[in-house]
Amino acid sequence: MSEAVSAPAVVAWMRAFAATVAREREYLTELDAAIGDADHGINMERGTQAVLAKLEGASAAGAAGGLGPLLKTVGMTLVSTVGGAAGPLYGTLFLAMGTAAGEATELSLAAWAATLDAGVAGVRARGKAEPGDKTMLDALLPAVEALKSAAASGLSLEAALQGSVAAAEQGMTATVALVARKGRASYLGERSAGHQDPGATSSWLLLQTAAETLAEQEGGGTTP
Ligand SMILES: [Mg+2]
Repeated sequence: MSEAVSAPAVVAWMRAFAATVAREREYLTELDAAIGDADHGINMERGTQAVLAKLEGASAAGAAGGLGPLLKTVGMTLVSTVGGAAGPLYGTLFLAMGTAAGEATELSLAAWAATLDAGVAGVRARGKAEPGDKTMLDALLPAVEALKSAAASGLSLEAALQGSVAAAEQGMTATVALVARKGRASYLGERSAGHQDPGATSSWLLLQTAAETLAEQEGGGTTP
């Protein structure tokens, strides 16, 4: 187990996310069909497959250029390929994470929490959404808070990532009862209640695959 997030770990994360999105495409589409326009599964699959193609053999290059450029490459690719509302939002997540990560080649748990925090703040600003609006933020924000408190408590990276998934899952499940106040689902008003938010669901999958991969890869450099 590694105690720092490395570029190879981020590449492994993106591979796992693409595989998971491909496997869950129909599920995401069903969720979006209920309160949106039934394209979230196919949009996310197109974007994550494009990221895969972009990162083909990028493990070493990413490590050399640092985590910032790697995360920004992911963000740019998602912006230009996902489409819908999710493209700019997922793109912003990774672009803002890339800015926060800068030239670092490895990030400790505390630094990783700060990086994800910056990414989620970017999503929040871009989407002008608040917690409880029934969006991807409802999964992402609790996950960031869990990571930050795990870092403050001195937990291992692996334990912290697992805790963030549990927090995201709780947030995602809580979107079922919510009335949407952002995005296409908000047009349904009260009728949006009773359905789980597709964006919160794909965000939970993103965090789930992070927990499966980010602590698994040893970095190339020295871990402080
Ligand atoms: Mg849609």
